[in-house]
Amino acid sequence: MFRKTFAILITLAFSLGFAVPAASDSTEWTAYQKTLATYSGSQTALSSFQKSQIRATLEKTPDSEKFICTGIRYYDQPMSVNIMVRKRAKEACAYAKQLKPELSTWFQNKPTKARSYAGKVLLTVKSPKGPMDIQDYRSWDQVESPSSVDECKIEDGLDPQLLRQGRGSWYNGQKARGPVGFPFVSSTFFPNEGELKFLMMLVSFEDTKKFVDRPKDYWNPQNEKLADWFDYWSRGKMSLDINTVEPWIDLPYASSKAPIRDEQLAKDVIERLPSTIDVSDYDGLFIQWAPGIKVGTRSKFKLSLNSIDSSVGGRIAPQFDYSQLVWSTSLDFHNNEYQVRRDHLWGSLVHELLHEMNMNLHGPGNGWGTGVGQSYRANQMAGVSYAITAWEQFLLEWMPDSQVHCVTPQDLVEAQSVILTPLEISGGDRKALVIPISNSDVLVIESRRPVGYSESWSDKNKGLLAYTVNPQEAAQMDHIDQDCGNDPTYTKWAYYLFPDQEMQEASGWCGAMGGVFTPAIFNEGETLTHNGVHVELVKSAGNKDYVKITKAEESFTPPAIYLGPKASNGGWWNRCDGGECPLELPNPAENFGWIQDTADRAIPKLNSCDGLYNRGFRNGVAASRAFRDDAGAAVASLVSTQWYAKNRHLDTNLDGVICSCQAPEEPDPSTAGNDSMSKCMTLQADQSFDPPASVSSASDIGRGSSDYPFSHMLSRSSDEIIVTRYPRWGPSCSCCG
Ligand SMILES: [Zn+2]
Repeated sequence: MFRKTFAILITLAFSLGFAVPAASDSTEWTAYQKTLATYSGSQTALSSFQKSQIRATLEKTPDSEKFICTGIRYYDQPMSVNIMVRKRAKEACAYAKQLKPELSTWFQNKPTKARSYAGKVLLTVKSPKGPMDIQDYRSWDQVESPSSVDECKIEDGLDPQLLRQGRGSWYNGQKARGPVGFPFVSSTFFPNEGELKFLMMLVSFEDTKKFVDRPKDYWNPQNEKLADWFDYWSRGKMSLDINTVEPWIDLPYASSKAPIRDEQLAKDVIERLPSTIDVSDYDGLFIQWAPGIKVGTRSKFKLSLNSIDSSVGGRIAPQFDYSQLVWSTSLDFHNNEYQVRRDHLWGSLVHELLHEMNMNLHGPGNGWGTGVGQSYRANQMAGVSYAITAWEQFLLEWMPDSQVHCVTPQDLVEAQSVILTPLEISGGDRKALVIPISNSDVLVIESRRPVGYSESWSDKNKGLLAYTVNPQEAAQMDHIDQDCGNDPTYTKWAYYLFPDQEMQEASGWCGAMGGVFTPAIFNEGETLTHNGVHVELVKSAGNKDYVKITKAEESFTPPAIYLGPKASNGGWWNRCDGGECPLELPNPAENFGWIQDTADRAIPKLNSCDGLYNRGFRNGVAASRAFRDDAGAAVASLVSTQWYAKNRHLDTNLDGVICSCQAPEEPDPSTAGNDSMSKCMTLQADQSFDPPASVSSASDIGRGSSDYPFSHMLSRSSDEIIVTRYPRWGPSCSCCG
């Protein structure tokens, strides 16, 4: 009996690290432990050194309430040693009590198998765990969401009937964007959970070249990435079952002689599927054409046929009896980027599939390399991401409520904190900080890292991204060429907000169209002050971001932007041939919107605005932000004092802005020259969400449009409904999805 008890004691002593009596109340404690110096011989009184150790221990633990002294005996020493070590423990506690009478003390003795502890006294000092110190992130715990997550499920301002039609559809005179607020409204195209079955195939014509022997060698890696993507981001709620047709499907005619009707071309492919395949088993068919397609009877080879478009008010193509989705690529096989694009096709397929589930995707940062499929060329400078925003994950109900930290402005009577796990890293307690400032200004903060689904990002892109979501806004405008992605001139469901410390303006940043979105990233120590809320990235650790949220101070003004020293003699940009310049330009010079070489010799003198356009300037150049604003030019016009100065001969109305469609040189824009940049390609922006009158036959839209991988263009008209999907008018796509 005795031996058994003894054995249990040893086990306890080691497994609990000298367990101390359990606190009977529910207070949480922090413990501090210290072993006193070795006693000499059988001495039990404290030496002056041991006393100083006890004093130091109490100084280290000013909030201590419990003081436990454990005398330690080596396990095979005689029991008489118990008496000695117990006495030592008693003395130590008595001295502590003498120093701090309010302490609750307790002494005991325990056996050990660790020789180095034999004969010593271990002090265990317990202090009630104080409130988390908001000033010290090291003391932070992941606290409960201060408000119920339901408070952050801001309702969508649009009629669910309209949203159900699917993004891009017209319904009774209104255009549907995808849902932005709650509850999520699935389109009738694809659900947002469950299983989808797809069939992938490669199709050749008599005049095309097969780029791979076995279609599986091409499709299987893509299929795997597609299925993995949905598994990761939906947390297993959505699964794809994808099969590939074993042989190539050979059409018995040249691509230049392909049937002109989409339905006939699709039918020709489906009829040649192996007899073991039953197409009715699948939700969608994906066709990729062999390289070498030639223009002839058809100028486009993209197909986009599906049951929904054909079922609204009657079938589009009654002769086409296949009602599932049929898609084909439209990539130009002669395009240099084709090979790169082809290997990353899965990314743009994810994007298109999400649209079919009714997601907007094109925001925040329309066309930026921050979200899936918006800019999917893997060779793009600064990389791309296949992530879907935290807000859209939340909306789709893919992100569990438990991963959303919901902070209302009322919660900011005291400072709040959250520890966010980056979207690219699986798991984590919190993935999104949501602050519903109003029902049209929902601030969302997510943590991001250049790993996993964003692994091609530059290493600089780690920290937070912040954006404001507006579920009340009816418009969603994307695929507009002048749009730099975050420009409020082109209404979108969400916009990025930049750190207070960032020189570039969030609304005017165009550099992301060239792949540079680093100004949007919050680094450690940076803050965001937005409509009464102040957010700080206190600490950015390897796989966690520590974020503090407080009420913004009323007197807050963003840090002044330093534009550098003044140039001597007013700067070269203020010198003109033949004397005085017509406009005095700022010194120091202003450069906003895009990083450009601003050296005198580096800037070309251009004959027309097309020269700028061909260099990637999207909507003109202003000499300063003040000139830009006074002239009413788009926020996203480039501001460059030097580029303006070199080309000031194009500014015939002397408003300090050149080549902007919003601030044309002549008052009547219809007479403003023939170059591309004087014309605003903002038909979507101008139509105020009335169906354009010219679209009586909706199938006219989309003719001649576009180089993006899958056409969404499918349309029909009837008396009460016009359905069009993603018509585009611009000369090229502002982004790639
Ligand atoms: Zn898209």
